[in-house]
This record gives sequence, C-alpha cells and structure tokens, in this order.
Amino acid sequence: MLESRKIPNSFLHFTLRAIHDIMGGNGLNSILNMTGLSKFRDNFPPNNEEIESEAADIGRLVKGAMDLIGQNGVKAILKNAGHRGYRMSLDENPELMNAMAAELKKLPTDRERIASLMGAITYDSNRIFGEQHQELVALEDGFEVRIAECEWCWGITGMGGPVCFAELGLEEEAIFWATEKHYDITEIACRAMGAERCIFRIAGRPRD
Ligand SMILES: [Zn+2]
Repeated sequence: MLESRKIPNSFLHFTLRAIHDIMGGNGLNSILNMTGLSKFRDNFPPNNEEIESEAADIGRLVKGAMDLIGQNGVKAILKNAGHRGYRMSLDENPELMNAMAAELKKLPTDRERIASLMGAITYDSNRIFGEQHQELVALEDGFEVRIAECEWCWGITGMGGPVCFAELGLEEEAIFWATEKHYDITEIACRAMGAERCIFRIAGRPRD
C-alpha cells in the first residue's frame, strides 16, 4: 500500500478545473464517479498553497481520465492545468514575480534564464516536498529536471507512456515566461512506467 502523501491544494484544484473546462461538467462527473472521488463534485479543494490535498487523488484522476479519453486527451487537459498553475503563481505574487522577471532580463542568454528560473522552482519544490525531491541538471545541450517521488503520477503503475503532463505544462509556461520562446520539453522517464524517477528533458534550443 502506497503511503499517503500531501500536496498543495492548488495542484488538485487546477487539475479538477482543467478537466471540467475541457470535458464539461458531465465529463468531470463521469471521471469522479469512476474513480470514487465524488466528494469533489461541485466541491473543489480551495485554490491555495496549503499542503492538505492527497497526491493519490491526482493519481486516481489522471488514471481515470486516461481510461476514459486516452493519453492524448489527458495530455491536453493536464498541460492546460500546468499552464494555469504557473500563471496563478504570477498573479498571486506579482511583486515577487516582477522582481524576478527584472532579474531574469538582466541575464544575457536563455540558458542562464532557464537555469535561474528552474533553479528557483526546484528550490521551492524541495522546500515543500523535502531536500531530495527535485534536481535540476545542466546538460551540454539543455537541462533535465528529475523528480524523485513525483506527485503527478502518484500511485499509477503499468503505463506504456509517461503521464506527468501537468509538470510539462508548468515547465513550458515557466520557460516561456522567462525567455519568451517555446522550448520543447519531453518526459523521458516516468514512475508510472516503472522508472525510479520522473525525468523531464528541456531542449537546448527553442522551437523554430
Ligand atoms: Zn511523474
């Protein structure tokens, strides 16, 4: 039995909201019924950073959505959730984020901007989830973000492809914010496929 693991309420809030906005109320309710999560029907956890929600609930939602609409549909929904989650952090802490944007603008290259911003996100994530949780590794070409006990695939096993699309969406949005360019990000290892950690590869060059 997987141990219980708490995550910020906003993670679950944005996942539920993205499913609702893309699949409609009926679509969301089907998934909630299927996964035994009817307690969230018209009753989302609040949109805040309190560490009160269960990672396992995200796992159950992702797995349920995957069974119902398949990988591509889920990818669109969860990337949307990740984009919103990042934009919310901009809206919630405008002074902090404006100060950070001004600092990032002073850096001469995208690579330095990505290193700086993803470093700050990694630091923040480790503050919430514990020291060894997330690691940012600079490669010769691009970066890797490695997440030890990834909250986006918590409890999901036996998948044929990666499922942590919300993390992809969040990183995409963050890097676009920092560089004003689109960098491709690929999840190259996922715990839902049996990997030890989830690993996200950030391309060394922007998309054309
Ligand atoms: Zn994962």
